[in-house]
Amino acid sequence: MRTAIVSDIHGNLEALEVVLADIEGRNVDRIICLGDILGYGPDPVACVDRVAEVCEWSLLGNHDYGALYEPTNFNAAAEQAAYWTRAQFEKEPDEEAAARRWEFLGGLKVRVSFGDFLCVHGSPRRPINEYIFPEDAINSPVKMQQIFDRVQKWCMVGHTHVPGVFTNEPDFYPPEDVDSVYKLEGDDLLIINPGSVGQPRDMDPRASYAVLDETQSHVEFHRLPYDVDSVVKKIHAIPELSNWLGDRLLEGR
Ligand code: ZN
Repeated sequence: MRTAIVSDIHGNLEALEVVLADIEGRNVDRIICLGDILGYGPDPVACVDRVAEVCEWSLLGNHDYGALYEPTNFNAAAEQAAYWTRAQFEKEPDEEAAARRWEFLGGLKVRVSFGDFLCVHGSPRRPINEYIFPEDAINSPVKMQQIFDRVQKWCMVGHTHVPGVFTNEPDFYPPEDVDSVYKLEGDDLLIINPGSVGQPRDMDPRASYAVLDETQSHVEFHRLPYDVDSVVKKIHAIPELSNWLGDRLLEGR
């Protein structure tokens, strides 16, 4: 079984389409989404429709929650983006399409388990909102211990937009440290982050996703260039979306 894992699309349709096209060529059996389909980006409605169409299931991210229910702990730009995002769904004239989208968003899951994996958007401790940063592996051993206490074997998270693998040492391995393939072997507990499709924050602007291969027992990390400039232009043309939300895509931060 090969599972493509996408996360943190954030309304970036250009990045999502490039990732989905790449997935088509990788002999994948299914696609799952770790949440934050929307928020920040200019095409939240189209991204929700695509995820609903191609993903077996999707998790509830803090930005999905923010647009669907209310923005919690957002900065001013993120909050304004959340209200604008909600308005894009509310202005749909086709009532059936609108109802279908609200139902899909209302059905996003907080946790999903399969095989040896627990999947959450943020962390096993606070599934929607807690960040597990690479630097936590060095600076916050107690936090990492408490989080790994809730991991039976393997876990998948998104939310930080930084791809890589945490072990319960604790340690963090970015994809470049493992030639973009992490082997699932040994007794370490693992937390795997596929990175972000639509708003990478590891100083690499390319879209990020991962493929779990259960037969070969490994996770592959993939990076793909996409038309960032078009997305930046769209964001700059929408007054409610801060220009910074476009500018940061150029640098991947
Ligand atoms: Zn996110």
